[in-house]
Amino acid sequence: MDLLTFRFAPSPNGALHLGHAYSALLNRQMADAAGGRMLLRIEDIDLTRCTPEFEDGIYRDLEWLGLEWEKPVRRQSGHFGEYRAALERLVRDGLVYPAFMSRGDIRAFIADTGRSGRDWPRDPDGVPLYPALDKALSEKERRRRMDGGAPFAWRLDIEAAAALAGDLSWEESADETLSEFRREPARPQAWGDVIVARREIPTSYHLSVVLDDALQGVSHVVRGMDLFRATGVQRLLQTLLGLTQPRYFHHRLILGPDGRKLSKSLADTGLSALRAAGATPGDIRRMVGLPSA
Ligand code: GLU
Repeated sequence: MDLLTFRFAPSPNGALHLGHAYSALLNRQMADAAGGRMLLRIEDIDLTRCTPEFEDGIYRDLEWLGLEWEKPVRRQSGHFGEYRAALERLVRDGLVYPAFMSRGDIRAFIADTGRSGRDWPRDPDGVPLYPALDKALSEKERRRRMDGGAPFAWRLDIEAAAALAGDLSWEESADETLSEFRREPARPQAWGDVIVARREIPTSYHLSVVLDDALQGVSHVVRGMDLFRATGVQRLLQTLLGLTQPRYFHHRLILGPDGRKLSKSLADTGLSALRAAGATPGDIRRMVGLPSA
């Protein structure tokens, strides 16, 4: 059997916090238990929000926690050509279209329909679904706008894509022992016409993540429960692009003292702040509920 491969894939757009520590340490623990590998991948496609300082901080924090990883590390910003090729395939297959409405346009359109913002369907993250009017634009009009420099994003025609792919599901582990998996139905339509690439960046989180997981031979994606529903879109993209599909385990989230999800701006749960305040790697393990190393 092939070596099991896990990965921890942070974005350097902020400092790592306790939730990241849990995810990274759990990936390591599961890889070790399976005699497998754990890769570190830097998800830095957002060139405006990701910085070399945050990236250095990630390496520093993970080293301090006692983690090691294979080098060179895959940094997504070095692979735009590969993502572009996948995007072009989706364009050729007629599964994506240029969408010209900005967030403000979407809000104004929803208001104009006479429905309150609350009545408009929303995706699992609470974002209003894209009104998909651009799908009806002629090829000529699309070209005219694109050539004229209008801002746009490539959105997946979710109905067409889901119809083509048929019923999809993924294998979700019941717990971190990976001894029992259940089938979870993918419901990509819940996300509406998601963005798969932008005009200036030929990819998106969803597109790069499925390509990289396949390219790097990731067999098990272990990540936070906050990405559970996003897996439906990723299953769909894997199918459209003929990619291998990993198995999944979405782990519990580490919550802040207020019971809410941690964010990268919460300095008091940041690993470097905890380290500066005298915490040890052992303290971090205890704080996230992992046994001592
Ligand atoms: N880069 C993503 C994040 O920082 C995680 C991607 C994943 O694990 O699929 O939230």
